[in-house]
This record gives sequence, structure tokens and C-alpha cells, in this order.
Amino acid sequence: MNKTLLACFLLIPHLACSSTLPKQLAVPGGIVNIELGSIATPAPEVFFQKNRVLVLENDHKWVAVVGIPLDSKVGQHSITIQSGKHKTQSNFEIDAKDYPAQYLTIKNKRMVNPNPDDLKRISNERPTINKALNTWTEQPINDLSFSLPVQGRLSSPFGLKRFFNKQAKNPHSGLDIAAPTGTTITAPASGVVLNTGNYYYNGNTVFLDHGQGLVTGYFHMSKITVQAGQLVEAGSKLGEVGATGRVTGPHLHWNVYLNKTKVDPALFVPELIPAEAKQ
Ligand SMILES: [Zn+2]
Repeated sequence: MNKTLLACFLLIPHLACSSTLPKQLAVPGGIVNIELGSIATPAPEVFFQKNRVLVLENDHKWVAVVGIPLDSKVGQHSITIQSGKHKTQSNFEIDAKDYPAQYLTIKNKRMVNPNPDDLKRISNERPTINKALNTWTEQPINDLSFSLPVQGRLSSPFGLKRFFNKQAKNPHSGLDIAAPTGTTITAPASGVVLNTGNYYYNGNTVFLDHGQGLVTGYFHMSKITVQAGQLVEAGSKLGEVGATGRVTGPHLHWNVYLNKTKVDPALFVPELIPAEAKQ
């Protein structure tokens, strides 16, 4: 429990107590925070598109923190709220966001058009990666503000429409921070190491579980200094920046997942909140 919350519960219970929520940005790839009701009743179970959603306490209310998939349609969506046997829906709106395009040239052509052996490797890796991303750990969460995992230049924001060697590929699913090979990568918040490995596109990779479906991923590392199962504190070293996997140079690609959905990591980092989410 952080110091503010401790003060809330023990010292000044009459004051409103707040968690640190990520910034809301109701667009594809963004996050919507939905108030659910008083904490006088047990926390409800919340689902969005059949995936369980993170719920935390904020200002004496339960709040659902919903990750919005990049391919979501603009317009009305809803969550399902289950309190005991009682089931309700809550609607919310998703606005449009036009993410810019980015054209990259990859020298290793197999990273753009994998050969049959590469494709076999990619499909063999997928269940391991999906297992890490689909983790749900039941645990209370009270702080969703992250520090940047690497000091460096923000080289590519989340959501860019991507073209590799002029071919349209999946949009950019994380935030890129460029830094020299060997720069230390630290955990942005406490968590448990779910998985480490070397994957075709992601290179040397670490996945962290922060609880309730909040999972973070660290790709293209030159060195991994943690092991699966290890508990890490905010600021603990995870490894070093590198250029493994599909890259144009050394950088950290950082992913954040909520309810099995990749969302913009910048929404969790107070100094990086996107301009349109600031109000
Ligand atoms: Zn990236």
C-alpha cells in the first residue's frame, strides 16, 4: 500500500482518498475509466468483450479501467458488471482517432516476409506469448502510475499505421524509446516476471504481471537480467536495451496490456500524457 492510501485509511478517513488512475482517452488504443458504485459493496466483476476488466478503488468508489482495442469501432460500447447474481450493463462512447502513418525500411527482408521455417517458429512462439498476455492474477491494485522504463528519446508513439518496406503491417502496438545498446531498462511498477524469451519479431523479451490483467512487455533487449517467477519492485533492473528481433536500431519497445488489449503506455506515465487526454 502506498503512503497516500495508508494515510487515507489510518489517519484521515474522512478525506476523499484517490488511487492514481491512468488518463482516460476514449479512442481505439485508449482507456476508459468507468465508475461502478460505492466500495460499501464488494468489488463487482467487470467484463468487456468477454474479457475480465481491472477494477480498483478510487475516491470511495469502484472504478473499472477498460482497455479499448485499436480495431474498435467508433460509437457506443458497453461493459457487463456482475455483482453477485446481479448483472447490469454500462454504456460508453468511443471517439475516432486518426493515428499517423510511419514508413520504415528493414534491411533484413525475412523480418518483413518470413520464410516457411520462420513462419513455423512464429506460430510455435505464439501460444507462449499469448499465455503471458492472457494472465489474470486476482490482487488489489492501488497505483496505476508508471515511471518510464528507459531514459531515452521517444522515437515512435503508440498506434502508428505501419509500413515495412512499403508493405502495410499491423499498427505499432507499443511505445518506442531509443537509447544506446546496454542502457538499463527498469520496471515501471512492481510486478512478477511472467516470462522471458527470445522471439522472432520481439527479440529478447520480458513480460511482467502487475495484477488483474495489467501486463507489460519489454522487447528487443540485448540482455535480460530477471527470471520467470521473480518479484520485481518499481525501478528494479529488467535488462538492457538492444536491437534483437525486428528493429531499425537499438531501442526499447514497451507494451502495456489491459483486458488482453494493447493500449497506449503513455496514458500511464504522468509526464507523457497525450495532449488530447489532458483535460
Ligand atoms: Zn516498437
